[in-house]
Amino acid sequence: MTGSGDLLIRGARVITLAHGAVPRRAAAMRDLGVIEQGDVLVRGGLIAQVGESLDAEAPHEIDAAGRILTPGLVDCHTHACWAGDRLDEFERRLAGEDYLSILRAGGGIMSTVRATRAASTDQLRDLTIARLERMMMFGTTTAEVKTGYGLSTEAECRMVQAILEAGRSEELCSMRLVPTFLGAHAIDPEQPDFMQRTIDETLPAVVRLHPGITCDAYCEQGAWPLEQTRRLFERAAGLGCPLRLHTDQFHSLGATAMAIGMGARSVDHLEAITAGDVPLVARSRTAAVLLPVSGFCTDGRYAPGRALIDAGAIVALATNCNPGTAPSPSLTFAMALACRMMKLAPAEALTACTVNAAHVLGLSDCVGRIVPGLAADLVLWDERDVRALAYEVAGPPAELVLIAGRVAHTGG
Ligand SMILES: [Zn+2]
Repeated sequence: MTGSGDLLIRGARVITLAHGAVPRRAAAMRDLGVIEQGDVLVRGGLIAQVGESLDAEAPHEIDAAGRILTPGLVDCHTHACWAGDRLDEFERRLAGEDYLSILRAGGGIMSTVRATRAASTDQLRDLTIARLERMMMFGTTTAEVKTGYGLSTEAECRMVQAILEAGRSEELCSMRLVPTFLGAHAIDPEQPDFMQRTIDETLPAVVRLHPGITCDAYCEQGAWPLEQTRRLFERAAGLGCPLRLHTDQFHSLGATAMAIGMGARSVDHLEAITAGDVPLVARSRTAAVLLPVSGFCTDGRYAPGRALIDAGAIVALATNCNPGTAPSPSLTFAMALACRMMKLAPAEALTACTVNAAHVLGLSDCVGRIVPGLAADLVLWDERDVRALAYEVAGPPAELVLIAGRVAHTGG
């Protein structure tokens, strides 16, 4: 419909998220900055004007007819680049086996690692594109994608390459994809000195390929221990990498406090966070990233989202889209779960996967709000009340998705 990226959306219920400081904490997470009958003018791929009855013209006009318009959703924690499938494991877990015992037996992440290593960079790129096209159907217009299924210098670098190429692809309308290095996703039992090699060899190689890439780790029993995670982070920080950490998913190993002390951008999971660490997160500048789809798919445990918000933490929300513990492309499903299982208000859930998620990715000045100067990444929903986004389970799909003002997806 529009190649130039110039258009005018008339008569939308515009959920701007324009009010207040970025990122949002506590009561500010409920202030969505709604314009009841708003227009949005897009020029050159950016939001040019937002307001009521704009005196403006554009080559293309969309009559929103009172439907809600939100910023494109930001999925700040995904593992959407992988090959193979985990359907056998799915069935074994349904029959009663638990995740860590499957991991110890060489399944779980390692089965995806084997399939990912065997795939070409082009195949990995195409698989990533296909998953992100599904995410877009539920309103995602920016996504973080982690490596971590290569677990060798060569394969981790190819994953970064595949993610970068997917982000440049026409199929995704050049959707913003942010790669994160997660070479510390698991321990490869077949590589001697695996952790040392990840720190000394793989991390620097990935940083040479993509300077400034964020470094993540999975600190958990059976995965990376606390001390090795600390050593990885010290090296990564020295190379200029922002830090993020998978922590407290099944066991609290003390890594949450360590990550905060090292100035990490986020601590993700937190299902097993101790009561004492909640105020520590809340007082810090490190965001808490909630991943309720994992609890839904594994053991029914959820991070204390309500307590974290009430304590004043920066809270974000993501799908954790991955083949093992969260095979979902849908941020609206994550919102539905966050409200029901973590007791977030619908407005808080939306703030958590727009403005606060953009903050986690260092993209607050580009995406996550409908304000002039930001990218025209916008989603029109066939709903009149924003609470409907979290109310419908496994939906609703997006009606129209714009990336930099271009039509990236149409529903219906
Ligand atoms: Zn994850």
